[in-house]
Amino acid sequence: MLLNLKDILSVAKKNSFAVGAFNTTDVALVRSVVEEAEKTDTPAILQFAPGEFNYATPYFFEYVIKRMENSRVPFALHLDHGKTIEECVKAIQAGFTSVMIDGSTMSFEDNIRITKHVADVAHMAGVSVEGEIGTIGTMNNSDEGGVDNVVYTNPDDVVNFVDKTGVDALAVAIGTAHGIYPKNFKPELQIGILKEINKVTDIPLVLHGGSDNPDNEIREACEIGIQKVNISSDIKQEFFKAVTSILNDTGCFLPPKVFNPAIEATKKVVHNKMELFGSLGKAHLYR
Ligand SMILES: [Zn+2]
Repeated sequence: MLLNLKDILSVAKKNSFAVGAFNTTDVALVRSVVEEAEKTDTPAILQFAPGEFNYATPYFFEYVIKRMENSRVPFALHLDHGKTIEECVKAIQAGFTSVMIDGSTMSFEDNIRITKHVADVAHMAGVSVEGEIGTIGTMNNSDEGGVDNVVYTNPDDVVNFVDKTGVDALAVAIGTAHGIYPKNFKPELQIGILKEINKVTDIPLVLHGGSDNPDNEIREACEIGIQKVNISSDIKQEFFKAVTSILNDTGCFLPPKVFNPAIEATKKVVHNKMELFGSLGKAHLYR
């Protein structure tokens, strides 16, 4: 089944777990997530950042949407980090059930203005909207963007932003960064800020840059109020590691012989994330 973000996250909120949102790009990564979700009866979100959306081309989403609609498991199809109204409208036209408009690097007033505009348009089509306040860091090995210095989300801004924009989910900056952290860098989540935000709002919260953070911090965040965790680098790194070693070891270049084992390796990472977020086997809650 294909749901919008609001409907997939409201069940997660009620039952205190987070749904994994995986950046997938192409058929091998889509299969890794969809097949593991079906095997374990787990809700999942497939998401594409604008660069991934353009690479896949809108025709690709006809396959993705059909695949999700014909499944017993709940899915949502989400645009990650839409930067302009046009990018969000293109995703809605391609059949996405949810879009993120990321105005987090704009002034607070401009962020409210563009987010409300997208929410007004998207809601007319039954499409959900994720906004962001505060800024998420970047490690320069991701294409989702971000800034060098994280500005933590101010809990006082949350109620104001949610009321004025009508967003269905909110990305918060509590100390994560996009990409894989350098060897000597210790990421630390500000769980205290998350607790403060959770006190002032009922809106499902989103954790970006969820790859490579310690498991115990992520687990705690999902229990406290994070209902969507974005995973990009962790699955792509595993996938390409597998592809590289198969190419090097066998010299084989037949796509099924290279990609099928890589898909199986990636599924293990997807499985571990679903378990960590508390969503494993929770699809029955949607029926
Ligand atoms: Zn992000």
